[in-house]
Amino acid sequence: MGYIYYCPRCRSTYSTEKDNQQYEQCPSCNIRIIPTHITTDEWHTKTDEEKEAAKKQFDDQAKLSTSQTSSNSNSIGKALRVVGIIYIALSLIGAFILIGEEITIGLIAGVFGCLGGLLLLGFSEIINLLQDIKNK
Ligand SMILES: [Zn+2]
Repeated sequence: MGYIYYCPRCRSTYSTEKDNQQYEQCPSCNIRIIPTHITTDEWHTKTDEEKEAAKKQFDDQAKLSTSQTSSNSNSIGKALRVVGIIYIALSLIGAFILIGEEITIGLIAGVFGCLGGLLLLGFSEIINLLQDIKNK
């Protein structure tokens, strides 16, 4: 007796002997595949339409679980992003104040402020991307 597993990336199903294996991998994508708890016999009695509907349901489950993990673990990336935006906003305000007194210094402060903020934003993006890779 086999059980059906579903890969959300290539949308294929696979059957293995054991049910509820948490770390079953897709042979072609090497990502975690979802245990559907449906037996192979049960799956083969389904029509193509029923299979398609079931796959859609599995897709939703997969999305739900990935969005939960990413919202939990990307907090540092998100915090850096917020800090980066505040950093740029504050340095632009500072630059406008300085431009009123001394144009050159104000412009330099604005450019460096934006560069610093962009570096923070870029860094937060890298953290988010790394987290995505880890989640796969
Ligand atoms: Zn796959």
